[in-house]
Amino acid sequence: MDPNFRGEPVRPGEVVFVGAGPGDPGLITVLGRKAVEAADVVLYAGSLVNPEILAWARPGVPTHDTSGLTLEETTRICLEAARQGRRVVRLHTGDPSLYGAVQEQIERLERHGVPCRIVPGVSSAFASAAALGTQLTLPGVTQTVVFTRLGGRTPVPESEALERLASTGATLCVFLSVDRIDEVVDACLRGGLPPDTPTAVVHRASWPDEVCLTGTLADIAPKVQRAGFRRQAMILVGRALGRRVGGSGEPPRSRLYDPSFSHGYRKGDSPP
Ligand code: SAH
Repeated sequence: MDPNFRGEPVRPGEVVFVGAGPGDPGLITVLGRKAVEAADVVLYAGSLVNPEILAWARPGVPTHDTSGLTLEETTRICLEAARQGRRVVRLHTGDPSLYGAVQEQIERLERHGVPCRIVPGVSSAFASAAALGTQLTLPGVTQTVVFTRLGGRTPVPESEALERLASTGATLCVFLSVDRIDEVVDACLRGGLPPDTPTAVVHRASWPDEVCLTGTLADIAPKVQRAGFRRQAMILVGRALGRRVGGSGEPPRSRLYDPSFSHGYRKGDSPP
């Protein structure tokens, strides 16, 4: 793969996988937008990609919804278009590296000599943190973020059971699992997180109908059930989420902006 985008955002005969972001068309990268504007063919993943993004394609450019297609069918569309020297853009929701399927597509295409590249995107995990107005890491609380999901038809390795991940105290971003919020809560409690751990569910982050539910492990499940959210929602769990998400107490100060802390760009008023 040639990671160099200094030339064209998508070249003739190439397939570029673009992170479309969480929903708001303003949350795609500049490069991602340029690739859509230059495309001769656009593939996108159904309802999770905002139609406004598709509208940037030039008039008459074919767009294919891949939600009802198999890997083979999607690959065939990309392959045929690329072989005809077309510029192909494949939009993935959020960032393509998370719960996407780019590896298998890229391997098949490269096997047929089609060059591929990836343009990253804003994951719904980050859009959800932004919607909540909070952060995922906090000094003295946690310096680690976990992206995970409950096992479903796609199994999760036993060593990564949510209970075990929760026991680390890292902030958890749980994808694809809001329809089983009870199981998520139970696993976190079994993992030793206290019932008052800040917990949020963000439904359709960055879309006009976005909803943030905030609370704790003790009360989030009934809130989600009352709201009726079954999909397109991110579950965030952890003390780092802080007061805006059911936590309490002053947020600890970061060392980076502490007046006494020296670093490469600033000399503090006491030695480091
Ligand atoms: N690659 C995507 C994730 C795809 S998996 C990303 O980086 O965001 C689909 C899951 O992502 C959904 O089940 C949901 O948990 C989450 N998701 C996608 N869009 C979302 C949004 N706008 N708001 C909240 N969660 C979202």
